[in-house]
Amino acid sequence: MPSLPATELPLRHNHSAEPSEHAEVAPIPAPSSYSTPASSSKQSTQSSEVAATELIFLGTGTSGCVPVVQCLTVDHPSCHTCTSPLKENKRLNTSCILRVQCPPPENSSSTTPIYKNLMIDAGKTIYPAALNIFPRYKIRTIDALVLTHAHADAIFGLDDLRSWTLPGPRSTQNHIDVYCSATTMSEVARTFPYLVDKNQATGGGDVPSFVWHVFDENESFRIPSCGNIEVVPLPVEHGRYLSTGNPFWNLGFRIGGFSYISDCSGVPEETKRKIKGSRVVVQDGLKWDPHASHWSIEQSRTWVRDELGSGVALKKRTTTKETNGESAFENGEPWSEDLGPQSTWLTGFSHAVEHVEATKEFSAWGKRDGRGMYVRPAWDGLRLGIDGRPIPES
Ligand SMILES: [Zn+2]
Ligand SMILES: [Zn+2]
Repeated sequence: MPSLPATELPLRHNHSAEPSEHAEVAPIPAPSSYSTPASSSKQSTQSSEVAATELIFLGTGTSGCVPVVQCLTVDHPSCHTCTSPLKENKRLNTSCILRVQCPPPENSSSTTPIYKNLMIDAGKTIYPAALNIFPRYKIRTIDALVLTHAHADAIFGLDDLRSWTLPGPRSTQNHIDVYCSATTMSEVARTFPYLVDKNQATGGGDVPSFVWHVFDENESFRIPSCGNIEVVPLPVEHGRYLSTGNPFWNLGFRIGGFSYISDCSGVPEETKRKIKGSRVVVQDGLKWDPHASHWSIEQSRTWVRDELGSGVALKKRTTTKETNGESAFENGEPWSEDLGPQSTWLTGFSHAVEHVEATKEFSAWGKRDGRGMYVRPAWDGLRLGIDGRPIPES
């Protein structure tokens, strides 16, 4: 279990809060301005009708995005990925939406479930990502936002969420509930003081309205605005500080059968135990070669295979002729938790990874070294169902 910094105090955004007396020098959020979600063990449980049923990728690229501008401005552009016309080779910063199915409101006569949108991360490219994907999937509201860490590709789009909460006829909501660790909270407060304390705004500009919730990264918590669904933080290493050699911690999240980890260079045992049993795993896989703060494709998929299982029943692993080396997923066989993830999707790619080539290589690896494991490269706009199978666009 990693020893992460203890949660500071912050909680709920309070529009009438007095400015902090230290605001000019260090806009550390005032404790009274935030709320801490109680750990899920202390809250009433979610309804059995509440479940994360879909995962939609808003972005699957590294921080610098793909294509790389410099690959296109040389005299004779030749980079396979960057010159590709395929939409799967155009990648924005990693982010996703979990769609959470909830029962209809109690006062409604409808029996049709409603869907809440739980977004993970709002990085530098959240605006073009939302422009591309929200209309396509008829996503209108952001019912909660959960932040993984405070790198630019995870938080620098926070300001762009203003258009969801501005008053007016097109407003979709009066605020967005944002969940993050204390470490991320203080980085957000340092970077965007006016986003955590409106008294820091200078007037004239529009400011998004957030309600901040700081969670303990070692405890699961619930999100009332998404049917009280349980969220399990998954602390993982994301590189190490050059000065001390200590890990920089990023958080993945497990929500129902989905485990989503966007940036990772190591998984502690305690976190592995929390991921085990996931039906769908999303893991970091920056490129083919190793990197200091991200797992390579080989490291990611080998870890999933060796530590979580390949999703294929043991008897099938030894009878590859019978299954043609394909996974239980491809054969439509029933899945159970002890088999490992039914499907694994890698994300966070650089331009070293060309989608068509990667898909072929991943498939061949699954049948060969992956012992039937189903692993594929994700792409921006990919929508997965509860079984991790892509849902075709209608
Ligand atoms: Zn390139
Ligand atoms: Zn990062």
